[in-house]
Amino acid sequence: MNKNIAVIRGDGIGPEIIEQALRVLDKISELYGHTFRFTDVDMGGCAIDKWGNPLPDEMLEKCVKSDSVLLGAVGGNKWNDVPSNLRPEKGLLRLRAGMGVYSNNRPAKIWKQLSDASPLKKSIVDKGIDFIIVRELIGGIYFGEHKTENDTAIDVLKYSESEIERIGRIGFETARKRNKKLCSVEKSNVLDSSRLWKKVMHRLAKEYTDIELSDMLVDNCAMQIVKDPSQFDVIVTENMFGDILSDEASMITGSIGMIPSSSLGATKCGLYEPIHGSAPDIAGKDIANPIGTILSAAMMLRFSFDMEKEAASIENAVSAFLDSGYRTADIMSDGMTLVGCRKCGDIIVEKIKK
Ligand code: NAD
Repeated sequence: MNKNIAVIRGDGIGPEIIEQALRVLDKISELYGHTFRFTDVDMGGCAIDKWGNPLPDEMLEKCVKSDSVLLGAVGGNKWNDVPSNLRPEKGLLRLRAGMGVYSNNRPAKIWKQLSDASPLKKSIVDKGIDFIIVRELIGGIYFGEHKTENDTAIDVLKYSESEIERIGRIGFETARKRNKKLCSVEKSNVLDSSRLWKKVMHRLAKEYTDIELSDMLVDNCAMQIVKDPSQFDVIVTENMFGDILSDEASMITGSIGMIPSSSLGATKCGLYEPIHGSAPDIAGKDIANPIGTILSAAMMLRFSFDMEKEAASIENAVSAFLDSGYRTADIMSDGMTLVGCRKCGDIIVEKIKK
């Protein structure tokens, strides 16, 4: 297969971690006979320096026209004093809106080799943590009307059936590619928007008869994620609930440097990025963990290009890296071998097998 990938290296550790992900993709193309063409896109602080704009129109166009976008991270203290409409993060918001990516997928997976890194009890971690939160990204209370009148503030939470249906379908499709269990999270005992959410999910379930759908109230879900995360396969939920639950879920897995994410819209063209920022404190030192970015590239192969075997090859190589006792500084523990960002990339590339 031939695929055009827009690559945003960004700021801070962005270029270092992206470089390792590109080397991994090169190895996959070599092993599986694909052609990945990389097009560099300037976004964030580096684009402000070069173009005076965190995401110039022609850069957004390159992303929209690509088959998918791989992003490192943007931002840093250097651009703290630029006008707020020109901040590096504005480039990211514009990119998400411009690509119409309404579905944010963030996996919560604990690698058995890193189980000590979780703040949860060993007995809970040992049962396994491996689920994905599918979060609606461009609707709900964050995008409703916001106003303050005298001593009263109002934020409107609004969802239409079509908005719920499109994210619901992503939830079912994601579950179909995994263990076929979907948990729909809402607050239908209180909110009308949640009752509509539940109704639409159950209507969709009639089309996805191979998927086991369950419902859970959001307050119970927050508790269940720490009590027994092994019960979850895919969670689908609205914007604000997903924002809160996905941060909770990332925390129970250990290091921020290990976690990838994808954001998808109506087309197969997605935005893939690690969940962390540009980590200016460690930039340029060759100590960043590139695994979150490498796993984001694996998600791109799975969700945008339907390359399941290729994605699994990358994930198996990451697991083999950890099995061999190698660790970057953020996940280092006694008796392990410390490696830098580039060396981590070298070893993962070497361990990729068809
Ligand atoms: P951060 O995620 O960049 O860093 C938080 C801590 O985690 C730091 O100590 C950092 O060294 C560490 N860390 C992060 N990624 C790591 C990795 N791959 N390997 C090892 N350690 C890692 O968050 P921050 O410091 O709050 O933000 C720094 C900049 O990044 C800010 O300008 C912020 O706006 C921006 N940011 C960008 C994105 C994005 O591009 N999607 C997301 C969040 C923050």
